[in-house]
Amino acid sequence: MLLPGDWHVHTYYSPCGRRLDDAVQPLAAPERHLARASELGLREIVFTDHFVEDPTRPGMVLFYKGSGPAILHDLRSELARCSWGAELNVYVGCETETLSTEKVGIGPELARQLDFVLAPTTHYHLPGVPQPGSEAPADVADHMLTMIASLVTKPWIDAVAHPFSERESLIGDLRAIYEAMDKVRLTDIMGELASSGIALEVNGSAITSEAMPHYGQVYAEVARLAKSMGLSFTFGSDAHDYRKVGLWPSVERWIVETGLERTDFLTMAQVRVKRLV
Ligand SMILES: [Zn+2]
Ligand SMILES: [Zn+2]
Repeated sequence: MLLPGDWHVHTYYSPCGRRLDDAVQPLAAPERHLARASELGLREIVFTDHFVEDPTRPGMVLFYKGSGPAILHDLRSELARCSWGAELNVYVGCETETLSTEKVGIGPELARQLDFVLAPTTHYHLPGVPQPGSEAPADVADHMLTMIASLVTKPWIDAVAHPFSERESLIGDLRAIYEAMDKVRLTDIMGELASSGIALEVNGSAITSEAMPHYGQVYAEVARLAKSMGLSFTFGSDAHDYRKVGLWPSVERWIVETGLERTDFLTMAQVRVKRLV
């Protein structure tokens, strides 16, 4: 396997991770994820449930009500009762939210208590998350750049979750959006993210999603540019079901064809070193 870890896995502590199998057992139970990761021979799994530090804040996006510090406490308590293969290292991180250009859902102090912090900037399907001015490709492109650029001043974010991804039925053809994107500005933002030590995620679910058929093609262009600007990458399946954990062959193929190598992906040791700076 090209990459030995999965750094984006949701459990049933995420509101979207509550599906059951035919035997009425939860598909996103931490213990099932751990068993699957061990079976696949993974060395690292990072749990990244949807999380904001203060779900009670006035105006908080409804999706995040209930996704506060209690879920981290509960997940950790549950993990303490689980067992898994000796080769597997288990980490607790989160996928937070970009609530505005000024505010993300987690501050630097709480981020330090987590192993890894992902921030998405394109959860346009969630009511209350900042939205583009119109459906015109140029407006969507401009908004995407504005939101990703806003992370530059938040160096406690470790990586951007599924950059530039969203269902194309909602935002339009991603190729048109990318074509309308100001490439000079995109290049500048990539350079700034690199300086802030913020990586870009390669998200297995987004790359293989039927709801965004052009994402793989467009994100390959972005990833090549990002690599040339010195950015690092992380990989995550974004699994909400234990059967989806790990690096699927189609995503490994995408990584190789895009020209990314194992050394382009961060290690946990590198994340820790970066956080000391
Ligand atoms: Zn997400
Ligand atoms: Zn996710």
